[in-house]
Amino acid sequence: FNKLKEGLTKTRQGFVEKVSTVLTFNKTIDEDLFEELEETLIQADVGVNTSMKLVETMRRRVKERKLKDASQLREVMKEEIAHILVGDNDELGLNVDKDKKNVILVVGVNGAGKTTTIGKLAHRLKKENHRVLLAAGDTFRAAAIDQLLIWGQRVGVEVIHNQEGSDPGAVVFDACKSLASRRDNVLIIDTAGRLQNKTNLMEELRKVGKILARELPEANVEVLLVLDATTGQNAISQAQLFSEVVNVTGICLTKLDGTAKGGVIVGIRDELKIPVKLIGIGEGIDDLKDFQAEEFAEALFA
Ligand code: GDP
Repeated sequence: FNKLKEGLTKTRQGFVEKVSTVLTFNKTIDEDLFEELEETLIQADVGVNTSMKLVETMRRRVKERKLKDASQLREVMKEEIAHILVGDNDELGLNVDKDKKNVILVVGVNGAGKTTTIGKLAHRLKKENHRVLLAAGDTFRAAAIDQLLIWGQRVGVEVIHNQEGSDPGAVVFDACKSLASRRDNVLIIDTAGRLQNKTNLMEELRKVGKILARELPEANVEVLLVLDATTGQNAISQAQLFSEVVNVTGICLTKLDGTAKGGVIVGIRDELKIPVKLIGIGEGIDDLKDFQAEEFAEALFA
C-alpha cells in the first residue's frame, strides 16, 4: 500500500491537493464551488464527461445528505471515484489459469511500456509458478526484439524471436507450437505499436488472432492494452482506436509514478468500460501491481 501511495505522489499533489484546496473547511457549497470543482477535475485529466458526471453526483449527494461545508465533500468525492473505478463488473484480474494454456497478447503504441510490462509480468507469473514463454512479435524494430531478449534473460524465460523485418505471424506461429508442445502454460506476445498505420496494424493483429485461434483453440486469451498515463487524455483516444482494431479485454496503465495525470484512470474506467487490470508504478521489475479500485482510491486520498 505504501509503495502504491508513494507511486501516486505526483497525482496526489497534482489532483487530490487541488481538489482539497477547492474543498476547504468553512467554504460554503454553492454553484461557484461546483464549477470550480468541475474545472479542477478536467484539468486533472479526469475527462470532460466524467468530470461533469462526478460533479452532478456530488450535487445530488449534497442534497441527500444535507451537507453544508465544502470539506465534507472530500469524502464524497473519494467514495464516488472509488465507485467509478470499481465499475459495473467485478474486477476479475488477469485471466491466467494454471491448468490451461494461456496467451496474453500485449498491444499498445511504441513507448507506452509494452516491453517493460511484459518483463515485469513474466517475472511475476514465474514467481507464481507459471511456466512462461515470450514471443517477440514486434519484428518492426530491432530494438524491440533486443529489449525483449534482455528482459527474457533477466527474468529467466525463453524468448521466441526472429530477425527484424520478419513476419510477426511466423514468430507467433512458432511460439504457439512451442507452448503447445511443452509444459509452459503462459505465452506473452509483444506486438508492434504502429497506430500511425492503422491498416497494417489491423492486418497484423487480425493475422495473429487467426493463428492463435487455429493453433491454440482451447487457450485463455487475454488482450492487454498498455497505455501510458503521462499522455493523459491521449490514452483514452488510443484505447478507443485499439478497441476498433482488436477486442481489448484489459488495460495496463503504466508510468503512474511519473505523472500528475493519474486522474486519467477515472476517465478510462468511466468512458471505456474496459477493466483496468494492472498498473505500472515504476521502472523496476517489481513495479507492476494488480489494480484494485478501492485500494487505489484509498491511496489517492490517503
Ligand atoms: P514499448 O515501446 O511500449 O515497449 O515501451 P518500453 O517498455 O520500452 O517503455 C518505454 C519507457 O517507459 C522505458 O524507458 C521504460 O523504462 C519506461 N516505463 C515503462 N513502464 C513504466 C512505469 O510504470 N513507470 C515508469 N516510470 N517508467 C516506465
